[in-house]
Amino acid sequence: QLMEAVKAVFRSWDNPRANVYRRMNEIPYDWGTAVNVQSMVFGNSGDNSGTGVAFTRNPATGEKALFGEYLINAQGEDVVAGVRTPSPISKLHEEMPAVYEQFADIANRLEQHYKDMQDMEFTIENGKLYMLQTRNGKRTATAAIKVAVDLVDEGMIDEKEAVCRVDPKQLDALLHPTFDPEALKKAQVIGKGLAASPGAACGRVVFTAEDSKEWHDRGEKVILVRLETSPEDIEGMQVSQGILTVRGGMTSHAAVVARGMGTCCVSGCGDIVVDYEGKKFTLAGKEYHEGDWISLDGSTGNIYGEAIATVPADPGSGYFGRLMGWADKYRQLKVYTNADNPRDAAQGYAFGAQGIGLCRTEHMFFEGERIKAIREMIVSDNVADREKALAKIMPYQQGDFEGIYEAMQGHPVVIRFLDPPLHEFLPTKEEDIVEIANEMGLSVEKLHNVIDSLHEFNPMMGHRGCRLAVAYPEIAAMQTTAVINAAINVQKKHPDWTMVPEIMIPLVGEVKELKYVKDVVVKTADAIIAAAGIDMKYEVGTMIEIPRAALTADEIAKEAQFFSFGTNDLTQMTFGFSRDDAGKFLNYYYENKIYESDPFAHLDQKGVGKLVAMAVQLGHQTRPDIHMGICGEHGGDPTSVEFCHKVGLDYVSCSPFRVPIARLAAAQAAIKNPRK
Ligand code: PEP
Ligand code: MG
Repeated sequence: QLMEAVKAVFRSWDNPRANVYRRMNEIPYDWGTAVNVQSMVFGNSGDNSGTGVAFTRNPATGEKALFGEYLINAQGEDVVAGVRTPSPISKLHEEMPAVYEQFADIANRLEQHYKDMQDMEFTIENGKLYMLQTRNGKRTATAAIKVAVDLVDEGMIDEKEAVCRVDPKQLDALLHPTFDPEALKKAQVIGKGLAASPGAACGRVVFTAEDSKEWHDRGEKVILVRLETSPEDIEGMQVSQGILTVRGGMTSHAAVVARGMGTCCVSGCGDIVVDYEGKKFTLAGKEYHEGDWISLDGSTGNIYGEAIATVPADPGSGYFGRLMGWADKYRQLKVYTNADNPRDAAQGYAFGAQGIGLCRTEHMFFEGERIKAIREMIVSDNVADREKALAKIMPYQQGDFEGIYEAMQGHPVVIRFLDPPLHEFLPTKEEDIVEIANEMGLSVEKLHNVIDSLHEFNPMMGHRGCRLAVAYPEIAAMQTTAVINAAINVQKKHPDWTMVPEIMIPLVGEVKELKYVKDVVVKTADAIIAAAGIDMKYEVGTMIEIPRAALTADEIAKEAQFFSFGTNDLTQMTFGFSRDDAGKFLNYYYENKIYESDPFAHLDQKGVGKLVAMAVQLGHQTRPDIHMGICGEHGGDPTSVEFCHKVGLDYVSCSPFRVPIARLAAAQAAIKNPRK
């Protein structure tokens, strides 16, 4: 019996639940587990016996007081199974005062010894107290912060230790709505996807971004269900409580955009069968129609086929501020935010971002009149027409940049030039093609021809990034004009700020292509600055997101004043995995223990990280004062942040809602691995 029990514990290391748990908590498989064998005491030997569980502080609120429950004449199993209702630990004070006193004394001693809140199991056998185990107690984010701060005030730990006591990932729960725990207990999970953007969402199903907007405008709460999202869906995504997609991974469009907006998103739930025509989807053998209520948990990936009440985010009182203050004191990495519009920029700034590490300019092209001008540019077949169309977009871009500069109050802003392949701006559905051709005064055939000519077998490796500017330098010239004009205007308005616009050229793999685009930027920028009669500096840098750029970073640094590691593309191209499709097969890799985690969520330090480290070193070799950061989604992932600290980056940049997480993670990295 004993051996079977021991074997059962070892076997449990391998059950599917354990695999999922380990992946969630980043515990390596090869750690293995252990078994303690101890002699038994019996809590069920009469009314003078009992068993219970207690915490030295309240694990939900952090309040300092014994918290727990016990059952008389029972074993641990009875407490767990819930067949009898246990009594609160305070009652033990009345029932067995001596035992209670002894227990309280031991609890206090254990906490003093471990200098942390303890979770203890005990048994009373015939009036004698036995301690079965103690461990650091699991706790909510609110409790984690309060306990850490209180322990400093009680003189038990120092500030650095307190900073290390809170799991940065836990902060999510304070910044996003969560489900009402009581309501959640009764709810049933109907499916699971990737936990792409945290938070809890509850709303009625709609299938198009237009419907999201329409339903929202009449006061409905909606959840947008799509096969995948595209930049065109942005407005609908913005008004949705949550986003659910069938395809896509952690760095696909829906995931990146939702995280930027702080909206809950579950992506890549391949079990869903969507019927757009019939306005319904099937999951777990049941049909869900437009208007049906569902709920999403973007922190676990769970999908529920019903409405579950949510409770709003609450970063808490002064405790959060004090802990974050200590984090800022000890971290060495700066924390920037990725933001594409003034609203996200202001959100990131409010969460403590010290700059913008990535402004994806293409996201500004989809609204109203802008998309028309972009399309006009795309269908133009000569430079003059393209320039005419671009001139229409310029004022919009400039206005956006001014808004972003204002929101960041003079802090650094890195603006990235147009990145996606142009076909993303053209319609795909026949009815839209007809409508847009009419709108543009083109024949449907001509528009079809343009769309066909832009078709690529592998758009992610196609005509995108700086390759667009190499083919159409006028795009880079227009964007430069917008950036520099905006900076000049804001500088004039705020003479006390020092505006140094940073222009970032994406998807560079060869120094000559960077030089080619940079020459366009410099020529345009210098002319505007000279004409304005102003003394303004600006910088031109690049993303390192193609393996060849990392390998030749010494050459690239001759032209680049800064590097920003685009680890989404760098991961995609290093692994040769599509960032939009990898979700479909990665599960097999986890099940077979080939990979333990999603390389798009946690930076692959062995492979991709080697390229990053190499590029950091080569870049510094050529240009000692080069500054470097990361702007891929890994910039907000705690283990990846630690890696960035270790390889010597200057900053990490992540979506606004992850800024506090990155600040805390950066502090922990610095405390554990101080830089010289
Ligand atoms: C990246 O590739 O890591 C990046 C930040 O750019 P994007 O996600 O826009 O391709
Ligand atoms: Mg990229």
